[in-house]
Amino acid sequence: MIPFNKPYLTGKELEYIRDAVATGHISGNGKYTRICQNFIESKWSFKKVLLTTSGTDALEMCALLINLKPGDEIIVPSFTFVSTALAFCREGAKLVFADSRPDHPGIDENDIVKLVTKRTKAIVVVHYAGVACDMDRIMEIANHFNLYVIEDAAQAIDSYFVDKKNNKKPLGTIGHLSAFSFHETKNIQCGEGGMLAINSEQFIKRAEVIWEKGTNRSDFFRGVVSKYNWIDTGSSFLPSEITAAFLWAQLEALSEIQRRRREIWTWYDKNIDALLRGFHFHRPYIPNFATNNSHMYYVVCENSNERERMISYLKSNGIMAVTHYLPLHMSPFYGKLHDGRALAEAEKYSDCLLRLPLYYELCEENLIKH
Ligand SMILES: *Cc1c(COP(=O)(O)O)cnc(C)c1O
Repeated sequence: MIPFNKPYLTGKELEYIRDAVATGHISGNGKYTRICQNFIESKWSFKKVLLTTSGTDALEMCALLINLKPGDEIIVPSFTFVSTALAFCREGAKLVFADSRPDHPGIDENDIVKLVTKRTKAIVVVHYAGVACDMDRIMEIANHFNLYVIEDAAQAIDSYFVDKKNNKKPLGTIGHLSAFSFHETKNIQCGEGGMLAINSEQFIKRAEVIWEKGTNRSDFFRGVVSKYNWIDTGSSFLPSEITAAFLWAQLEALSEIQRRRREIWTWYDKNIDALLRGFHFHRPYIPNFATNNSHMYYVVCENSNERERMISYLKSNGIMAVTHYLPLHMSPFYGKLHDGRALAEAEKYSDCLLRLPLYYELCEENLIKH
């Protein structure tokens, strides 16, 4: 059976972990954390990034940073991973779910304005499959209503938005804050890991405090204060140097990993009709304003029966294909708090979208039986 995912190892991970252990500093914010953060900041011109223990953690830091008060509302897509919504819900926000685009699972920018109220604090967008949402339109809406924009860029490393003036902007650098994941299912991975990117100067100092359990320990290390103290809310969001060392081995191989994923994605797009002959489905659509980081190859079936038939067919050919999110506006945890609007596109993707195996060591030739 060809699995859906197989985490790729570059071969350097253990060498860097051994080195991290030998330095004697294996808690967080050491040599490898700095190497990773500096590399990422300069490669994609982020103002400031902080490694975290997961993408979920980075989203939780976003929720703390925007100072939510009970009753504040957050606009969030329904078709996304639980953490996109849960991070804000835990801080007392009311979730207002938006639908997906008819042509793409990302948030429908035309659905946002009618959801804005006096209580709206932020719009959270998800760059599904590493493909950008319409950030020109979304930033315009946010600026007009004075809202924060948080990018859930968990799947979006090394992907871009092409703005109206034809500037290529790395995803995660456009909103006020953004969250990335290095979970083993993502392009660049360290088992469990993530990163907060801070694009708005106002949040940088406080983000460091929240990252370090609500203390000014970062200032202490810089020699700015002689003792560190409890000065704000926070948690233990920083990963150990063992995780950061693993991550560095992956980041070093970024262009090779991305090259190989692109090759497989392109192969799928050329051969998908042959692979799924006799089925009715749509191929992934990439809007003109988006690039593709080959995080995922998926198809959208005509209905859920067709998808079931496709899953069985692929399984009988030794290929493991998997569905994706259940809509959050219908979830057991939050469904009863939703205002009852049907979100037809989110429900469609939940019923009809199917993801195919895509990982570095996948051998395309094995997908089609001869
Ligand atoms: C993977 C993912 C997350 C969560 O990241 P973790 O590192 O697993 O916590 C959040 N949002 C989206 C869209 C994801 O794909």
